[in-house]
Amino acid sequence: MRIPDFTLHQPLTAEEAVGLAKGSESFDFLSGGTDLLPNYKWGLGCRENVISLRHIPELSETPLGAGRTLWEIEHDSTLAEQFPALVAAASGVATPLIRRSATLGGNLFLDTRCWHFNQTADWRRAHGSCLKAEADQCRVLPDPGDICVATYSGDLAPVLLVHGATAFLAGPKGERAVPLADLWAPDGIRRFKDVAGGEFLVRLEMAPDARDWTVAYQKLRLRESFDFPEGGVAAGVRWQDGKAAEVRIATTAYASVPSLHPEIGEILVGGSLEENAIEKASKALQAEVRPMKNTSMSPAYRKKMARVLCRRALLGCRQG
Ligand SMILES: Cc1cc2nc3c(=O)[nH]c(=O)nc-3n(C[C@H](O)[C@H](O)[C@H](O)COP(=O)(O)OP(=O)(O)OC[C@H]3O[C@@H](n4cnc5c(N)ncnc54)[C@H](O)[C@@H]3O)c2cc1C
Repeated sequence: MRIPDFTLHQPLTAEEAVGLAKGSESFDFLSGGTDLLPNYKWGLGCRENVISLRHIPELSETPLGAGRTLWEIEHDSTLAEQFPALVAAASGVATPLIRRSATLGGNLFLDTRCWHFNQTADWRRAHGSCLKAEADQCRVLPDPGDICVATYSGDLAPVLLVHGATAFLAGPKGERAVPLADLWAPDGIRRFKDVAGGEFLVRLEMAPDARDWTVAYQKLRLRESFDFPEGGVAAGVRWQDGKAAEVRIATTAYASVPSLHPEIGEILVGGSLEENAIEKASKALQAEVRPMKNTSMSPAYRKKMARVLCRRALLGCRQG
């Protein structure tokens, strides 16, 4: 398994990167390469041109710059003080070696994953390929239309959604801001709502009130040492006079997109995260998530665990 040939471009400015993307019909952006290059090795989605974003200083100049590595985020004492759940989520991604290369931008723009997609070319030839690779048939659902149900498995998105983060994208029309909650489209192939071909993430900014939120993240995975989440729940509470004034719940690894669940948060508003309210909200989340049969663990177990993860995350948000 060798990575197919491609031309590597290494622009030094965002403008140069946008120009290269504009002039190329077939390209991918590259940051740490810990997601893109393993896919290339297996002949998945390979492009003729790869535009590296690693040499653009702008992407690493702010605390939540797209080019900052997860290792840098994990060891940033200011971020640890302001957004401990984000730092905890970053330190739970993959392995220390991978986190040295893996970036925030790559984590958010992580490709969706599926048991029938993330396989070698030989495996796909023998077993039968899928909608997201070479075939015209989904192996997970008999009739999903032309929608792909591959799973989004990034760990940082749910925490950032709970903090109300905004994404700043560079592209042919200059820079623009998109609320993170509006970034993704529910389709494992066409993964973003209206991100144009040549646009890439420059940085994130938290909402002005992000530090007023107590946030906790819980993740289910096969091996604690390095696996992707099989389910992930972030909970956030804005406390006021001992009561939960606002509550946000966000999930990852339960669908093709990371999702906020506003109606689950509503269940807890006005209370103090009492046992019965936590139980009610966690059960409601379990009922709401619809994991597919396309990762290592069974959908039934992942669904059950949504309740457990939600409960644990909410307990982590209790005052004191
Ligand atoms: C063994 C293993 C275990 C892993 N475990 C986890 C895990 O537990 N949790 C988890 O979340 N991830 C996990 N990953 C996935 C991956 O390592 C991380 O998500 C990482 O943060 C990806 O970042 P990167 O910079 O390497 O992305 P890249 O591989 O460089 O890029 C990933 C995707 O994002 C796009 N992209 C990159 N940067 C930008 C940008 N600035 N703007 C727009 N698009 C961009 C690329 O075009 C590509 O499509 C694992 C990977 C491996 C190999």
